[in-house]
Amino acid sequence: MTFTEAKERVETLAAELKQHNYNYYVLAQPTISDQDFDYKLKELAALEKQYPGLLDPNSPTQKVGGEITKEFQTVKHQWPMLSLGNTYNEQDLLDFDQRIQKAIGSNFEYVVELKFDGLSISLSYEDGKLVRGVTRGDGTKGDEVTNNIKTIHAIPHHLKPGNYPAEFEIRGEVFMHKKAFERLNQERLDNGEVTYANPRNFASGTVKLQDSAEVAKRPLDCFLYFFYAHKNQFKTHWESLQTVKTWGFPVCEHTALCSNIQEVLIFIKTWETERFKLSYDIDGIVLKVNSFEQQEELGFTAKSPRWAISYKYKAASAETILESVGYQVGRTGAVTPVAHLKPVLLAGTTVKRATLHNANEIARLDLYEGDTVFVEKGGEIIPKITGVNLDKRTPDLKPVEYASNCPRCGTELVRKEGEAAYYCPNDEGCPPQIVGKIQHFIGRKAMNIDGLGDETIENFYKRGFLHHISDLYELHQHIDELRTLERFGEKSITNMVRGIERSKEMPFEKVLFGLGIRFVGETVARKLARYFKTIEALQHASFTDLILVDEIGDRIAESLIEYFTVPQHLEQIEKLKKAGLQFAIKEEVNELQSEKLAGKSFIISGVFEKFSREELKQKIEQNGGKILGSISAKLDYLVAGENMGPAKLEKAQKLNIPIISEQELVGMIEG
Ligand code: AMP
Ligand code: ZN
Repeated sequence: MTFTEAKERVETLAAELKQHNYNYYVLAQPTISDQDFDYKLKELAALEKQYPGLLDPNSPTQKVGGEITKEFQTVKHQWPMLSLGNTYNEQDLLDFDQRIQKAIGSNFEYVVELKFDGLSISLSYEDGKLVRGVTRGDGTKGDEVTNNIKTIHAIPHHLKPGNYPAEFEIRGEVFMHKKAFERLNQERLDNGEVTYANPRNFASGTVKLQDSAEVAKRPLDCFLYFFYAHKNQFKTHWESLQTVKTWGFPVCEHTALCSNIQEVLIFIKTWETERFKLSYDIDGIVLKVNSFEQQEELGFTAKSPRWAISYKYKAASAETILESVGYQVGRTGAVTPVAHLKPVLLAGTTVKRATLHNANEIARLDLYEGDTVFVEKGGEIIPKITGVNLDKRTPDLKPVEYASNCPRCGTELVRKEGEAAYYCPNDEGCPPQIVGKIQHFIGRKAMNIDGLGDETIENFYKRGFLHHISDLYELHQHIDELRTLERFGEKSITNMVRGIERSKEMPFEKVLFGLGIRFVGETVARKLARYFKTIEALQHASFTDLILVDEIGDRIAESLIEYFTVPQHLEQIEKLKKAGLQFAIKEEVNELQSEKLAGKSFIISGVFEKFSREELKQKIEQNGGKILGSISAKLDYLVAGENMGPAKLEKAQKLNIPIISEQELVGMIEG
């Protein structure tokens, strides 16, 4: 396509999309399906990316676009979700205490709580049942994320018996434990996916995902700390916390009742160091006036309550020497720099290393080898360098020069346009890449070959038994040599052989993930496998074919196309096919059980009581029915659960499409 042709196409698409937006939002009479709309939007985005000069700030990809693809409904909060006044020093707290005394006298108590570093959420319950979960949003209105919230185990869907009001709201913080964060982030790094800077970002990114199944895979937790009802049965905040606990709500045990500000200060001092022992991040302490009546008397400013304030801890920081910069090479060839530090005590642990993320970070910090640097421990377990003490830089020091060659194999590093990381392109000859790829392939989430461990792979590689994934299926040729290895007895061999044999039954999506294609994590592999069904179809898919798949963006599409152009990769796939691995999805999962829904089409929307959406879809397909992508006159039934989007409902009603419940659907199949 020439530039002029591209320009014309961009203009046509932009004009069409604007018209469709108008039809959809203003006239409520869309003339194309949602899917076709998204197709056009993606085509426009791809062109704008290819020709940045054609990007108009008013393009539908830039503005309403976000709103359109966004499926969350906006909900107005019954009580605004305010922020808290905050302070970093004791004097401010004493002043706060004085202001309160002036307003209500000295007869009051404080409740002190930890300030959890996550995202705030408001939950609504009706007759003891969770009906809605909404993010803070702009404080007045938030995103309705009920389906995602329902995947959090700590949040009860049904309350235990208790004297709760028929309707109430409860608010708190959703967060991710540090260990889970480290594990999931490492997985993302290994898969070449974008990582999150801290557990809070990970948690808030997760709650806003469109795919609840993906949310369910990322362990989130929650603590609740505000109770709201039109007729509040409690006299104090403390009493409300104690009681909601008995209804089944998670309330943090590290909460205290203080009779004056001095006691509050002691609590703050204790947690200044104790906080590092917690499994989750806190960034301070919150104090709240206990009595609801006194809270009411004190009232609010425009932004925050006058009866509460937060005290934020300063990040733990220390000064030490940057001795050198080292590099790690991952299985995809991505190079990560690591700072080697002179050991220093920081927040109770000795710190020797700090993350440097990438070359940009080193340049931003303007690091010299031998510099005295400030290290901080924030949310992350691994500390980071936040700056240089320039007063201590001596004239003999030289700037850190980023490695130009791979520290493991010597190959010149490359950097792709628009990416921060450098890569070692020698995937056929770079030891950590060779070993890493095979380790990834046998891993729990891929082929799950127990009987083979990371160390064994390393050992086999060194001895020349393994170089490619496909060599695993040739290991039997070396059995006699294997028998002579130390700590590798008959039993280990039997286990290994059995594990390798079993891997041939692993479904296509696992094999695809196991290949270790950059940016193709578990979820992406599953989506691709289900969509294309065979490796051949995937291999021959064009860029446009690829980006049509849900959640497949430009980066993943490019990476896939590149992967399939490498002859060695194709050779590997051929060998693995010969070995008997699964390179197509088995249709039996969806084997037809009846023809009861033959010729009928369905859309499923909302949350259901008995089955997940996926299960319902499967049931429909197993009984001959079809699932459609969007509501149109062709649709036969809309299966509606709770919290279905009002736009969908309205559209279905307009078109006179029968709306059925989960039970009715099951009835159609069983009846
Ligand atoms: P800030 O974002 O600094 O204005 O602080 C206010 C936010 O702190 C609230 O929106 C909550 O998300 C969060 N927070 C964390 N822990 C608590 C707690 N125990 N009580 C009240 N708010 C909390
Ligand atoms: Zn290398």
